[in-house]
Amino acid sequence: MASIRSRVTTAYALALGGTMLVFSVALWTARRASVLRDLQVRVSTLADIGHLVLTQAGMQNTPVVVTNDSLRGPELQRGLRARLDAVPEYLVVTDSLRALYLSAAVRALNPDDIAALMSAAMLLTPDTSAATVTLSSDKLLMVARFETGEAGPVRRVVAASSVASAEFFGSEQFGVFVLIAPLIVLVSVILAYTIAGRALRPVDEIIGDVSAITDGRSLHRRLPQAAGDDELARLSATLNAMIARLEQSFSGLRRFTADASHELKTPLTVLRADIERAMSAGPRSTEGLVALEEALQETTRMADLVESLLTLARADEGRFDLHREPVEMAPLVLDVAETAQILGEEAGQKVTVGPLTAATVMGDARSLRQLFLNLVTNAVKYTSRGGRVDLSLERRGEMVEFAVRDTGVGIAGADLPYVFDRFWRADRARSRSSDRAGVGLGLAISQYIAHAHGGSITVASRLGRGSTFTVSLPVRGDESAAAARPESVPAPESKA
Ligand code: ADP
Repeated sequence: MASIRSRVTTAYALALGGTMLVFSVALWTARRASVLRDLQVRVSTLADIGHLVLTQAGMQNTPVVVTNDSLRGPELQRGLRARLDAVPEYLVVTDSLRALYLSAAVRALNPDDIAALMSAAMLLTPDTSAATVTLSSDKLLMVARFETGEAGPVRRVVAASSVASAEFFGSEQFGVFVLIAPLIVLVSVILAYTIAGRALRPVDEIIGDVSAITDGRSLHRRLPQAAGDDELARLSATLNAMIARLEQSFSGLRRFTADASHELKTPLTVLRADIERAMSAGPRSTEGLVALEEALQETTRMADLVESLLTLARADEGRFDLHREPVEMAPLVLDVAETAQILGEEAGQKVTVGPLTAATVMGDARSLRQLFLNLVTNAVKYTSRGGRVDLSLERRGEMVEFAVRDTGVGIAGADLPYVFDRFWRADRARSRSSDRAGVGLGLAISQYIAHAHGGSITVASRLGRGSTFTVSLPVRGDESAAAARPESVPAPESKA
Protein backbone atom coordinates (compact mmCIF):
# COMPACT_ATOMS: atom_id res chain seq x y z
CA MET A 1 0.00 0.00 0.00
CA ALA A 2 1.45 3.30 -1.09
CA SER A 3 0.42 5.19 2.04
CA ILE A 4 1.01 8.92 2.43
CA ARG A 5 3.61 7.99 5.03
CA SER A 6 5.72 5.93 2.62
CA ARG A 7 5.26 8.47 -0.18
CA VAL A 8 6.38 11.33 2.06
CA THR A 9 9.39 9.29 3.21
CA THR A 10 10.37 8.35 -0.36
CA ALA A 11 10.01 11.96 -1.54
CA TYR A 12 12.08 13.14 1.42
CA ALA A 13 14.81 10.54 0.79
CA LEU A 14 15.00 11.51 -2.90
CA ALA A 15 15.09 15.21 -2.09
CA LEU A 16 17.77 14.70 0.55
CA GLY A 17 19.88 12.42 -1.68
CA GLY A 18 19.55 14.89 -4.60
CA THR A 19 20.46 17.89 -2.46
CA MET A 20 23.47 16.09 -0.98
CA LEU A 21 24.66 15.13 -4.45
CA VAL A 22 24.29 18.65 -5.89
CA PHE A 23 25.93 20.16 -2.83
CA SER A 24 28.87 17.71 -2.97
CA VAL A 25 29.42 18.33 -6.71
CA ALA A 26 29.37 22.11 -6.20
CA LEU A 27 31.69 21.86 -3.22
CA TRP A 28 34.07 19.54 -5.03
CA THR A 29 34.17 21.66 -8.20
CA ALA A 30 35.10 24.76 -6.20
CA ARG A 31 37.69 22.83 -4.21
CA ARG A 32 39.21 21.27 -7.33
CA ALA A 33 39.66 24.66 -8.97
CA SER A 34 41.48 25.97 -5.89
CA VAL A 35 43.67 22.82 -5.59
CA LEU A 36 44.64 23.11 -9.29
CA ARG A 37 45.46 26.77 -8.83
CA ASP A 38 47.71 26.00 -5.83
CA LEU A 39 49.34 23.14 -7.73
CA GLN A 40 50.07 25.37 -10.69
CA VAL A 41 51.74 27.92 -8.40
CA ARG A 42 53.75 25.19 -6.70
CA VAL A 43 54.97 23.56 -9.92
CA SER A 44 55.78 26.98 -11.44
CA THR A 45 57.83 27.79 -8.34
CA LEU A 46 59.72 24.49 -8.69
CA ALA A 47 60.44 25.21 -12.37
CA ASP A 48 61.59 28.73 -11.44
CA ILE A 49 63.94 27.34 -8.76
CA GLY A 50 65.47 24.89 -11.25
CA HIS A 51 65.84 27.63 -13.84
CA LEU A 52 67.39 30.02 -11.32
CA VAL A 53 70.00 27.45 -10.22
CA LEU A 54 71.10 26.95 -13.84
CA THR A 55 71.08 30.65 -14.74
CA GLN A 56 73.19 31.51 -11.68
CA ALA A 57 75.71 28.82 -12.61
CA GLY A 58 75.88 30.19 -16.17
CA MET A 59 76.43 33.71 -14.89
CA GLN A 60 79.29 32.56 -12.58
CA ASN A 61 80.98 31.00 -15.62
CA THR A 62 80.68 27.55 -14.05
CA PRO A 63 80.40 24.92 -16.81
CA VAL A 64 76.80 23.93 -16.80
CA VAL A 65 77.05 20.88 -19.02
CA VAL A 66 79.89 18.33 -19.15
CA THR A 67 80.45 15.26 -21.24
CA ASN A 68 82.07 12.61 -19.04
CA ASP A 69 80.95 9.67 -21.03
CA SER A 70 80.82 9.95 -24.82
CA LEU A 71 78.29 7.13 -24.93
CA ARG A 72 75.83 8.85 -22.59
CA GLY A 73 76.43 12.27 -24.17
CA PRO A 74 76.31 15.64 -22.35
CA GLU A 75 74.81 15.96 -18.90
CA LEU A 76 74.57 18.60 -16.17
CA GLN A 77 77.63 19.29 -14.17
CA ARG A 78 77.79 17.20 -11.00
CA GLY A 79 77.51 20.08 -8.50
CA LEU A 80 74.43 21.36 -10.25
CA ARG A 81 72.92 17.88 -10.27
CA ALA A 82 73.46 17.66 -6.54
CA ARG A 83 71.76 21.04 -5.98
CA LEU A 84 68.82 20.14 -8.22
CA ASP A 85 68.44 16.78 -6.43
CA ALA A 86 67.29 18.85 -3.42
CA VAL A 87 64.20 19.82 -5.39
CA PRO A 88 61.40 17.35 -4.59
CA GLU A 89 58.96 16.18 -7.30
CA TYR A 90 59.66 15.67 -10.96
CA LEU A 91 62.29 17.86 -12.64
CA VAL A 92 63.72 17.49 -16.14
CA VAL A 93 66.41 19.62 -17.80
CA THR A 94 66.89 19.26 -21.55
CA ASP A 95 68.91 20.74 -24.37
CA SER A 96 67.22 21.08 -27.72
CA LEU A 97 67.28 17.28 -28.35
CA ARG A 98 67.58 15.21 -25.17
CA ALA A 99 67.55 15.13 -21.40
CA LEU A 100 70.51 16.59 -19.53
CA TYR A 101 69.14 15.86 -16.08
CA LEU A 102 66.33 13.72 -14.55
CA SER A 103 65.42 14.18 -10.89
CA ALA A 104 65.25 11.21 -8.53
CA ALA A 105 61.42 11.11 -8.78
CA VAL A 106 61.67 10.86 -12.60
CA ARG A 107 64.37 8.22 -12.45
CA ALA A 108 62.11 6.14 -10.18
CA LEU A 109 59.45 5.95 -12.92
CA ASN A 110 59.32 2.98 -15.28
CA PRO A 111 60.95 3.46 -18.74
CA ASP A 112 57.60 3.87 -20.56
CA ASP A 113 56.51 6.62 -18.17
CA ILE A 114 59.92 8.33 -18.49
CA ALA A 115 59.58 8.23 -22.30
CA ALA A 116 55.99 9.62 -22.08
CA LEU A 117 57.08 12.39 -19.72
CA MET A 118 60.05 13.27 -21.92
CA SER A 119 58.11 13.48 -25.16
CA ALA A 120 55.42 15.61 -23.44
CA ALA A 121 58.15 17.86 -21.99
CA MET A 122 59.80 18.28 -25.38
CA LEU A 123 56.49 19.43 -26.86
CA LEU A 124 56.21 22.38 -24.46
CA THR A 125 56.97 25.75 -26.04
CA PRO A 126 57.25 29.24 -24.56
CA ASP A 127 53.64 29.76 -25.73
CA THR A 128 52.25 26.63 -24.09
CA SER A 129 54.47 26.31 -21.09
CA ALA A 130 51.97 24.25 -19.01
CA ALA A 131 50.26 20.94 -19.84
CA THR A 132 49.20 17.64 -18.27
CA VAL A 133 50.59 14.23 -19.08
CA THR A 134 49.02 10.91 -18.18
CA LEU A 135 51.36 8.19 -16.98
CA SER A 136 50.50 4.56 -16.29
CA SER A 137 49.57 5.21 -12.65
CA ASP A 138 49.36 8.98 -12.31
CA LYS A 139 48.56 12.24 -14.01
CA LEU A 140 51.07 15.12 -13.85
CA LEU A 141 50.84 18.85 -14.32
CA MET A 142 53.97 20.14 -16.09
CA VAL A 143 55.30 23.68 -16.21
CA ALA A 144 58.36 24.64 -18.33
CA ARG A 145 60.82 27.50 -18.16
CA PHE A 146 62.93 28.28 -21.21
CA GLU A 147 66.59 29.25 -21.20
CA THR A 148 67.69 31.98 -23.53
CA GLY A 149 71.50 31.97 -23.32
CA GLU A 150 73.23 32.16 -19.92
CA ALA A 151 73.05 28.44 -19.15
CA GLY A 152 74.89 27.09 -22.20
CA PRO A 153 73.13 24.38 -24.16
CA VAL A 154 70.28 24.08 -21.64
CA ARG A 155 67.00 24.79 -23.40
CA ARG A 156 64.22 24.00 -20.96
CA VAL A 157 63.61 23.21 -17.29
CA VAL A 158 60.40 21.26 -16.73
CA ALA A 159 58.92 20.71 -13.28
CA ALA A 160 55.90 18.39 -12.74
CA SER A 161 53.69 17.26 -9.89
CA SER A 162 50.84 14.80 -9.46
CA VAL A 163 47.30 16.15 -9.88
CA ALA A 164 45.83 13.15 -8.05
CA SER A 165 45.05 15.36 -5.06
CA ALA A 166 42.69 17.40 -7.29
CA GLU A 167 40.75 14.30 -8.45
CA PHE A 168 37.54 13.34 -6.67
CA PHE A 169 37.41 9.61 -7.25
CA GLY A 170 39.94 7.89 -5.11
CA SER A 171 40.47 10.97 -2.96
CA GLU A 172 40.08 10.89 0.79
CA GLN A 173 36.96 13.05 0.55
CA PHE A 174 35.42 10.57 -1.87
CA GLY A 175 36.01 7.73 0.59
CA VAL A 176 34.42 9.72 3.42
CA PHE A 177 31.51 10.67 1.15
CA VAL A 178 30.91 7.04 0.14
CA LEU A 179 30.98 5.96 3.79
CA ILE A 180 28.99 8.78 5.36
CA ALA A 181 26.39 9.68 2.71
CA PRO A 182 24.39 6.40 2.84
CA LEU A 183 24.52 6.56 6.62
CA ILE A 184 23.12 10.12 6.67
CA VAL A 185 20.42 9.19 4.15
CA LEU A 186 19.49 6.06 6.14
CA VAL A 187 19.26 7.87 9.47
CA SER A 188 17.28 10.71 7.86
CA VAL A 189 14.88 8.26 6.16
CA ILE A 190 14.23 6.46 9.46
CA LEU A 191 13.64 9.82 11.14
CA ALA A 192 11.36 10.98 8.30
CA TYR A 193 9.38 7.73 8.45
CA THR A 194 8.93 8.06 12.22
CA ILE A 195 7.98 11.74 12.03
CA ALA A 196 5.54 11.13 9.13
CA GLY A 197 4.01 8.25 11.10
CA ARG A 198 3.58 10.47 14.16
CA ALA A 199 2.14 13.32 12.11
CA LEU A 200 -0.33 11.01 10.39
CA ARG A 201 -1.37 9.00 13.44
CA PRO A 202 -4.21 11.42 14.29
CA VAL A 203 -5.46 11.02 10.70
CA ASP A 204 -5.51 7.25 11.19
CA GLU A 205 -7.43 7.74 14.42
CA ILE A 206 -9.93 10.02 12.67
CA ILE A 207 -10.39 7.40 9.92
CA GLY A 208 -11.05 4.72 12.57
CA ASP A 209 -13.48 6.96 14.46
CA VAL A 210 -15.34 8.05 11.31
CA SER A 211 -15.69 4.49 10.02
CA ALA A 212 -17.17 3.51 13.40
CA ILE A 213 -19.76 6.26 12.94
CA THR A 214 -20.76 5.54 9.30
CA ASP A 215 -23.55 3.28 10.48
CA GLY A 216 -26.74 5.37 10.73
CA ARG A 217 -27.28 4.24 14.31
CA SER A 218 -24.01 5.68 15.64
CA LEU A 219 -24.58 9.24 14.49
CA HIS A 220 -24.87 10.41 18.11
CA ARG A 221 -21.15 9.75 18.51
CA ARG A 222 -18.56 12.46 17.86
CA LEU A 223 -14.87 12.52 17.04
CA PRO A 224 -12.60 13.54 19.91
CA GLN A 225 -11.83 17.24 19.42
CA ALA A 226 -8.06 17.73 19.15
CA ALA A 227 -6.59 20.65 21.07
CA GLY A 228 -5.24 23.66 19.17
CA ASP A 229 -6.16 25.09 15.81
CA ASP A 230 -4.12 23.00 13.39
CA GLU A 231 -5.43 21.27 10.25
CA LEU A 232 -6.35 18.10 12.17
CA ALA A 233 -8.31 19.98 14.81
CA ARG A 234 -10.18 21.82 12.06
CA LEU A 235 -10.80 18.54 10.21
CA SER A 236 -12.31 16.92 13.34
CA ALA A 237 -14.42 20.02 13.97
CA THR A 238 -15.69 20.05 10.37
CA LEU A 239 -16.47 16.34 10.43
CA ASN A 240 -18.24 16.70 13.78
CA ALA A 241 -20.38 19.52 12.39
CA MET A 242 -21.21 17.36 9.37
CA ILE A 243 -22.12 14.36 11.55
CA ALA A 244 -24.31 16.62 13.71
CA ARG A 245 -26.20 17.82 10.61
CA LEU A 246 -26.52 14.23 9.37
CA GLU A 247 -27.80 13.13 12.77
CA GLN A 248 -30.34 15.90 12.74
CA SER A 249 -31.74 15.03 9.35
CA PHE A 250 -31.60 11.26 10.01
CA SER A 251 -33.42 11.52 13.30
CA GLY A 252 -35.94 13.94 11.75
CA LEU A 253 -36.62 11.41 9.02
CA ARG A 254 -36.90 8.52 11.46
CA ARG A 255 -39.13 10.46 13.81
CA PHE A 256 -41.34 11.39 10.90
CA THR A 257 -41.64 7.75 9.77
CA ALA A 258 -42.26 6.54 13.31
CA ASP A 259 -44.82 9.27 14.04
CA ALA A 260 -46.59 8.82 10.70
CA SER A 261 -46.73 5.02 11.13
CA HIS A 262 -47.95 5.40 14.68
CA GLU A 263 -50.63 7.89 13.66
CA LEU A 264 -51.77 5.64 10.82
CA LYS A 265 -52.17 2.58 13.01
CA THR A 266 -55.36 3.64 14.79
CA PRO A 267 -57.35 4.84 11.75
CA LEU A 268 -56.38 1.65 9.95
CA THR A 269 -57.59 -0.53 12.81
CA VAL A 270 -60.85 1.42 12.92
CA LEU A 271 -61.19 1.14 9.13
CA ARG A 272 -60.65 -2.61 9.23
CA ALA A 273 -63.18 -3.07 11.99
CA ASP A 274 -65.68 -0.94 10.02
CA ILE A 275 -65.20 -2.97 6.84
CA GLU A 276 -65.59 -6.23 8.76
CA ARG A 277 -68.74 -4.90 10.40
CA ALA A 278 -70.10 -3.76 7.02
CA MET A 279 -69.38 -7.21 5.56
CA SER A 280 -71.23 -9.03 8.30
CA ALA A 281 -74.13 -6.58 8.48
CA GLY A 282 -77.13 -7.93 6.57
CA PRO A 283 -77.51 -9.22 2.99
CA ARG A 284 -75.51 -7.45 0.29
CA SER A 285 -75.00 -7.67 -3.46
CA THR A 286 -72.09 -9.81 -4.70
CA GLU A 287 -70.40 -6.72 -6.15
CA GLY A 288 -70.66 -4.94 -2.83
CA LEU A 289 -69.16 -7.96 -1.05
CA VAL A 290 -66.27 -8.21 -3.51
CA ALA A 291 -65.56 -4.50 -3.07
CA LEU A 292 -65.61 -4.82 0.71
CA GLU A 293 -63.34 -7.88 0.57
CA GLU A 294 -60.85 -6.02 -1.62
CA ALA A 295 -60.97 -3.05 0.74
CA LEU A 296 -60.34 -5.40 3.68
CA GLN A 297 -57.36 -6.99 1.87
CA GLU A 298 -55.83 -3.62 1.07
CA THR A 299 -56.44 -2.35 4.60
CA THR A 300 -54.78 -5.45 6.05
CA ARG A 301 -51.83 -5.00 3.68
CA MET A 302 -51.56 -1.34 4.65
CA ALA A 303 -51.72 -2.20 8.35
CA ASP A 304 -48.90 -4.74 7.84
CA LEU A 305 -46.87 -2.12 5.99
CA VAL A 306 -47.41 0.44 8.75
CA GLU A 307 -46.47 -2.13 11.39
CA SER A 308 -43.27 -3.04 9.51
CA LEU A 309 -42.38 0.63 9.01
CA LEU A 310 -42.88 1.29 12.69
CA THR A 311 -40.70 -1.70 13.61
CA LEU A 312 -37.86 -0.53 11.34
CA ALA A 313 -38.18 3.13 12.42
CA ARG A 314 -37.94 2.03 16.05
CA ALA A 315 -35.01 -0.21 15.23
CA ASP A 316 -33.23 2.70 13.52
CA GLU A 317 -33.86 4.87 16.54
CA GLY A 318 -32.42 2.16 18.76
CA ARG A 319 -35.81 1.63 20.40
CA PHE A 320 -36.18 -1.99 19.30
CA ASP A 321 -36.42 -3.66 22.67
CA LEU A 322 -35.03 -7.15 22.85
CA HIS A 323 -35.94 -9.07 25.99
CA ARG A 324 -33.04 -11.40 26.07
CA GLU A 325 -33.56 -14.72 27.76
CA PRO A 326 -32.44 -18.28 27.08
CA VAL A 327 -34.56 -19.51 24.15
CA GLU A 328 -34.70 -23.22 23.27
CA MET A 329 -34.44 -23.28 19.52
CA ALA A 330 -35.86 -26.72 18.78
CA PRO A 331 -39.36 -26.09 20.29
CA LEU A 332 -39.43 -22.69 18.57
CA VAL A 333 -38.65 -24.28 15.20
CA LEU A 334 -41.27 -27.00 15.79
CA ASP A 335 -43.82 -24.32 16.58
CA VAL A 336 -42.96 -22.39 13.39
CA ALA A 337 -42.99 -25.68 11.45
CA GLU A 338 -46.56 -26.28 12.57
CA THR A 339 -47.67 -22.92 11.17
CA ALA A 340 -45.69 -23.65 8.01
CA GLN A 341 -47.44 -26.99 7.64
CA ILE A 342 -50.84 -25.32 7.90
CA LEU A 343 -49.82 -22.72 5.31
CA GLY A 344 -48.24 -25.43 3.11
CA GLU A 345 -51.36 -27.54 3.28
CA GLU A 346 -53.43 -24.63 1.99
CA ALA A 347 -50.90 -24.01 -0.80
CA GLY A 348 -50.62 -27.71 -1.69
CA GLN A 349 -46.97 -28.04 -0.64
CA LYS A 350 -45.07 -30.59 1.39
CA VAL A 351 -43.45 -29.08 4.47
CA THR A 352 -40.86 -31.26 6.22
CA VAL A 353 -38.57 -30.83 9.20
CA GLY A 354 -35.06 -32.24 8.74
CA PRO A 355 -32.33 -32.48 11.36
CA LEU A 356 -33.30 -30.72 14.55
CA THR A 357 -30.49 -30.12 17.04
CA ALA A 358 -31.08 -28.90 20.57
CA ALA A 359 -29.53 -25.48 21.16
CA THR A 360 -30.19 -22.50 23.37
CA VAL A 361 -29.76 -18.92 22.18
CA MET A 362 -29.77 -15.81 24.36
CA GLY A 363 -32.45 -13.85 22.57
CA ASP A 364 -35.93 -12.49 22.28
CA ALA A 365 -38.33 -15.39 21.63
CA ARG A 366 -40.97 -13.17 20.00
CA SER A 367 -38.53 -11.56 17.55
CA LEU A 368 -36.90 -14.87 16.71
CA ARG A 369 -40.32 -16.37 16.05
CA GLN A 370 -41.14 -13.41 13.79
CA LEU A 371 -37.83 -13.91 11.94
CA PHE A 372 -38.42 -17.65 11.37
CA LEU A 373 -42.06 -17.09 10.41
CA ASN A 374 -41.04 -14.44 7.84
CA LEU A 375 -38.78 -16.99 6.18
CA VAL A 376 -41.24 -19.89 6.14
CA THR A 377 -44.11 -17.65 4.94
CA ASN A 378 -41.89 -16.42 2.10
CA ALA A 379 -40.89 -20.00 1.26
CA VAL A 380 -44.53 -21.06 1.03
CA LYS A 381 -45.50 -17.84 -0.77
CA TYR A 382 -42.86 -18.18 -3.47
CA THR A 383 -43.24 -21.94 -4.03
CA SER A 384 -45.88 -23.27 -6.36
CA ARG A 385 -48.36 -26.07 -5.70
CA GLY A 386 -46.70 -29.48 -5.39
CA GLY A 387 -43.39 -27.97 -4.24
CA ARG A 388 -41.46 -28.66 -1.04
CA VAL A 389 -40.32 -26.62 1.91
CA ASP A 390 -37.71 -28.11 4.30
CA LEU A 391 -36.77 -26.70 7.67
CA SER A 392 -33.67 -27.69 9.62
CA LEU A 393 -31.80 -26.68 12.76
CA GLU A 394 -28.15 -27.65 12.96
CA ARG A 395 -25.20 -26.85 15.15
CA ARG A 396 -22.05 -25.41 13.48
CA GLY A 397 -19.36 -24.84 16.12
CA GLU A 398 -20.41 -21.90 18.27
CA MET A 399 -23.40 -21.16 16.05
CA VAL A 400 -26.74 -22.77 15.42
CA GLU A 401 -28.16 -22.61 11.91
CA PHE A 402 -31.83 -22.49 11.05
CA ALA A 403 -32.34 -23.12 7.33
CA VAL A 404 -35.45 -22.90 5.18
CA ARG A 405 -35.11 -24.62 1.80
CA ASP A 406 -37.79 -24.36 -0.85
CA THR A 407 -38.24 -25.59 -4.39
CA GLY A 408 -39.92 -22.35 -5.44
CA VAL A 409 -39.37 -19.65 -8.03
CA GLY A 410 -35.90 -18.78 -6.76
CA ILE A 411 -34.09 -15.46 -7.11
CA ALA A 412 -31.85 -14.40 -10.00
CA GLY A 413 -28.14 -14.18 -9.12
CA ALA A 414 -28.04 -10.48 -10.02
CA ASP A 415 -30.86 -9.78 -7.55
CA LEU A 416 -29.34 -11.62 -4.58
CA PRO A 417 -27.37 -8.62 -3.21
CA TYR A 418 -30.60 -6.59 -2.93
CA VAL A 419 -32.84 -9.21 -1.30
CA PHE A 420 -32.43 -7.69 2.19
CA ASP A 421 -32.91 -4.09 1.03
CA ARG A 422 -36.01 -2.25 2.21
CA PHE A 423 -38.92 -2.33 -0.23
CA TRP A 424 -37.05 -4.63 -2.60
CA ARG A 425 -39.21 -7.18 -4.42
CA ALA A 426 -38.12 -9.36 -7.34
CA ASP A 427 -41.11 -8.43 -9.45
CA ARG A 428 -42.81 -5.35 -8.10
CA ALA A 429 -45.64 -5.18 -10.65
CA ARG A 430 -46.58 -8.83 -10.37
CA SER A 431 -46.30 -9.22 -6.64
CA ARG A 432 -48.35 -6.08 -6.07
CA SER A 433 -51.37 -7.50 -7.89
CA SER A 434 -51.01 -11.22 -7.22
CA ASP A 435 -51.74 -13.20 -4.11
CA ARG A 436 -48.03 -12.98 -3.34
CA ALA A 437 -48.51 -9.29 -2.67
CA GLY A 438 -45.89 -8.20 -0.14
CA VAL A 439 -44.29 -4.90 0.71
CA GLY A 440 -40.66 -5.95 0.64
CA LEU A 441 -39.87 -5.16 4.28
CA GLY A 442 -40.04 -8.69 5.77
CA LEU A 443 -36.45 -9.66 4.94
CA ALA A 444 -35.10 -6.25 6.03
CA ILE A 445 -36.72 -6.81 9.44
CA SER A 446 -35.47 -10.41 9.53
CA GLN A 447 -31.93 -9.25 8.86
CA TYR A 448 -32.21 -6.62 11.58
CA ILE A 449 -33.39 -9.23 14.10
CA ALA A 450 -30.56 -11.63 13.16
CA HIS A 451 -27.95 -8.86 13.52
CA ALA A 452 -29.45 -7.67 16.81
CA HIS A 453 -28.84 -11.20 18.14
CA GLY A 454 -25.20 -11.13 17.00
CA GLY A 455 -26.01 -13.45 14.13
CA SER A 456 -26.44 -13.25 10.37
CA ILE A 457 -28.78 -14.26 7.61
CA THR A 458 -27.71 -15.47 4.18
CA VAL A 459 -29.43 -16.61 1.03
CA ALA A 460 -28.49 -19.04 -1.72
CA SER A 461 -30.82 -19.30 -4.66
CA ARG A 462 -31.18 -20.24 -8.31
CA LEU A 463 -33.90 -18.88 -10.50
CA GLY A 464 -36.59 -21.52 -11.05
CA ARG A 465 -34.82 -24.02 -8.73
CA GLY A 466 -35.61 -22.67 -5.28
CA SER A 467 -33.94 -20.81 -2.45
CA THR A 468 -32.30 -21.51 0.89
CA PHE A 469 -32.37 -18.86 3.61
CA THR A 470 -30.05 -19.60 6.53
CA VAL A 471 -30.08 -17.83 9.87
CA SER A 472 -26.96 -18.27 11.95
CA LEU A 473 -27.16 -17.40 15.66
CA PRO A 474 -24.56 -17.70 18.43
CA VAL A 475 -25.45 -20.34 20.97
CA ARG A 476 -25.50 -19.46 24.65
CA GLY A 477 -22.02 -19.07 26.22
CA ASP A 478 -22.04 -22.11 28.52
CA GLU A 479 -23.39 -24.32 25.72
CA SER A 480 -20.70 -23.31 23.26
CA ALA A 481 -18.10 -24.03 25.95
CA ALA A 482 -19.52 -27.51 26.40
CA ALA A 483 -18.39 -28.21 22.80
CA ALA A 484 -20.70 -29.28 20.08
CA ARG A 485 -22.34 -32.48 21.23
CA PRO A 486 -25.36 -32.31 18.96
CA GLU A 487 -28.40 -33.69 20.63
CA SER A 488 -31.16 -34.56 18.22
CA VAL A 489 -34.79 -33.83 18.86
CA PRO A 490 -37.28 -36.17 17.23
CA ALA A 491 -38.83 -34.43 14.22
CA PRO A 492 -42.60 -34.42 13.96
CA GLU A 493 -44.42 -36.40 11.33
CA SER A 494 -44.14 -34.44 8.14
CA LYS A 495 -47.39 -33.69 6.47
CA ALA A 496 -48.17 -33.28 2.81
P1 ADP B 1 -42.30 -9.56 0.68
O1 ADP B 1 -43.24 -8.99 1.65
O2 ADP B 1 -42.39 -8.97 -0.68
O3 ADP B 1 -42.23 -11.05 0.70
P2 ADP B 1 -39.67 -9.74 1.77
O4 ADP B 1 -38.75 -8.72 2.29
O5 ADP B 1 -40.02 -10.85 2.69
O6 ADP B 1 -40.92 -8.99 1.24
O7 ADP B 1 -39.02 -10.35 0.49
C1 ADP B 1 -38.50 -9.49 -0.50
C2 ADP B 1 -38.49 -10.15 -1.85
O8 ADP B 1 -37.57 -11.23 -1.85
C3 ADP B 1 -39.79 -10.77 -2.21
O9 ADP B 1 -40.66 -9.86 -2.82
C4 ADP B 1 -39.38 -11.84 -3.20
O10 ADP B 1 -39.23 -11.31 -4.50
C5 ADP B 1 -38.03 -12.27 -2.70
N1 ADP B 1 -38.10 -13.51 -1.88
C6 ADP B 1 -38.13 -13.60 -0.55
N2 ADP B 1 -38.16 -14.90 -0.15
C7 ADP B 1 -38.16 -15.63 -1.27
C8 ADP B 1 -38.18 -17.04 -1.54
N3 ADP B 1 -38.21 -17.95 -0.54
N4 ADP B 1 -38.17 -17.45 -2.83
C9 ADP B 1 -38.12 -16.53 -3.83
N5 ADP B 1 -38.10 -15.20 -3.65
C10 ADP B 1 -38.11 -14.73 -2.38
